[in-house]
Amino acid sequence: MRRTVLITGASRGIGHAIAQELGEAGYDLVLNYLHSRTQAEQLQQDLQQRCGIRALAIHADVADEQQVDRMVRQAEEQLGGIDILINNAGVDLANLFRRKSSEEFRRTLDVNVLGAYFCARRVSEHMLEQHYGRIINISSTNGMNTYYPMSIDYDASKAALNSLTHDLAVQFAPDIHVNAVAPGFIGTASELDGYDEEFLRQECEKILVRRYGKPEEVAHLVRFLISDEADFINNTILRIDGGQMGSC
Ligand code: NAP
Repeated sequence: MRRTVLITGASRGIGHAIAQELGEAGYDLVLNYLHSRTQAEQLQQDLQQRCGIRALAIHADVADEQQVDRMVRQAEEQLGGIDILINNAGVDLANLFRRKSSEEFRRTLDVNVLGAYFCARRVSEHMLEQHYGRIINISSTNGMNTYYPMSIDYDASKAALNSLTHDLAVQFAPDIHVNAVAPGFIGTASELDGYDEEFLRQECEKILVRRYGKPEEVAHLVRFLISDEADFINNTILRIDGGQMGSC
């Protein structure tokens, strides 16, 4: 049976890599985006042609519950219910500690925590009905043992997302498995943007494998976690960070 996966924030970075990986593995895909419409629609076309799957790019701000509801309804009408959710959409509005505004802090929590919650709650309706579902939250080592006061809201949001992962796993057991993947430093365009070589070298010194990760490496792990081989993995946070030492 072909399963349908909703990937939030599939237009760029890690979400884009997860979409490529899962499309190549034969999953039907709902590709959510916020601003990057062209990239999402190109990805949809590419995956349909190259992998022969059904793919659908849908705009929604995951922080808006009504938009999430509309997105899932459209997906259900066109592709059927969502079997697997990858809560990947996230923002990191880094700013100097003293300049961080309460609006920025709230927006980060709204997207990174409430967005994941809205999506999980909405797709769980179908998953519980069919007694099967998988939810993967893309968390971060930030908030576990890596802290940057410039990203105080981001760090708090990822700690909250880990907590949400455990609560949802308990709430939805035994039908839906809920896990989180916590990447360390992954070299997406938005992550590398603005860093000079010296900073990157110093960051890589804190990682035992002495390099930053690739989005595809996170995608490989996600593919395994939603496979039937990973059926005994539930309610856990899996780090993928090259052996990153705690830092600040
Ligand atoms: P990215 O390149 O900045 O991409 C972010 C994605 O999220 C984009 O597709 C963006 O869509 C989407 N997005 C943002 N706000 C959204 C909203 N409100 N509603 C729907 N979509 C939204 O980020 P990334 O580096 O790939 O990170 C992806 C995830 O991995 C995030 O949750 C991040 O916290 C986590 N992570 C990243 C790293 C890293 O080092 N890169 C490390 C640990 C964890 P549009 O472009 O369409 O606006």
